[in-house]
Amino acid sequence: MINLLNLNYSELESFLVEFGMKKFNSKQVYAWLHEKMIRNIDDMTNISKTHRDILKEKSYIPYLNILKHQVSKQDGTEKFLFGLEDGHTIETVLLKHRDRNTLCISTQVGCPVKCVFCATGQDGFERNLNVNEILNQVYTISRRILKKGEKVNNIVFMGMGEPLLNMSNLIKSIKILSDEKGQNISMRRITVSTSGVIPGIEALMEEKLPVELAISLHAITDEKRNHLIPINKKYPLEDLYTTLKEYQKVTNRRISFEYILIKDFNVSQWDAEVLADFMHEFDHVLNLIPYNSVEGSEFDRPSEKKIDRFYSHLKDVRKVNVTIRREKGSDIGGACGQLRQKSKSIKGSSKE
Ligand code: SF4
Repeated sequence: MINLLNLNYSELESFLVEFGMKKFNSKQVYAWLHEKMIRNIDDMTNISKTHRDILKEKSYIPYLNILKHQVSKQDGTEKFLFGLEDGHTIETVLLKHRDRNTLCISTQVGCPVKCVFCATGQDGFERNLNVNEILNQVYTISRRILKKGEKVNNIVFMGMGEPLLNMSNLIKSIKILSDEKGQNISMRRITVSTSGVIPGIEALMEEKLPVELAISLHAITDEKRNHLIPINKKYPLEDLYTTLKEYQKVTNRRISFEYILIKDFNVSQWDAEVLADFMHEFDHVLNLIPYNSVEGSEFDRPSEKKIDRFYSHLKDVRKVNVTIRREKGSDIGGACGQLRQKSKSIKGSSKE
């Protein structure tokens, strides 16, 4: 059985023509799948019953089960635990802003990068998500909020997993999500976050996709970064710096840097100085993220005074383009670094 949401337009066309459908049917079926986001082949009302029957015999439209849905009392952030076909689970977070909705989506079950501050990394790695599992995070939530007249405006690949270690499915998903025949989400509203996987950054550069690139920097020496993000041993800061310089030269696009503020670890005046020097090498925006507690972690969050001092030094003294990202959804474990698989503690499923 062919999983229809794994196919891009030309693959869908070849599949349909093989079973006697016309090329123009591809446009219709593609719109049902990716624009209207239907779940049943029988809902394709402009496709003949004969062709629908063939489609049902040869293929199916996959969907995700919502195993758990939590809403933050602090700020309305919503977190979804989705069940996959093979029994694994992933989390997706809907961040509500006054004028827009941002969806933070996952690309892997678990994560092989194992950043020490991140709950996902601590759970280990199971597998990459395929295209339909990436798309269905968007489609499932879009269908829900469409009933309230809302839509997903921005997508950030910052959920579970390292997106650039699932490169082909990531790129295919981005192309389908931004396709004007589907959801038509501008690539400029799509952010791909990476811990610094250099071959992936180079591949993004070659693909020339005008998405936003966000680098999880978090420390400005190899010694500290090796401790936080083990993949830094393979792709150290100097190599990352060279790759990002090239990326910016080729794409002419601003780069976002994420920097988690950890007590007594990376928030000294010296850290601020070296970080500012690094930022001034790039057309940048720097997002400071006060550490969100994760069970069993060796780290703590700095005091508010320390956070403000670090921020003000960067902003006012060193003129860095910097913001503080106040966590959303931390009371439901939906903030940065808090996502994890919780399949063992969840029983049953709820309908969309
Ligand atoms: S922070 Fe991102 S890259 Fe690091 S372990 Fe967590 S999910 Fe993986």
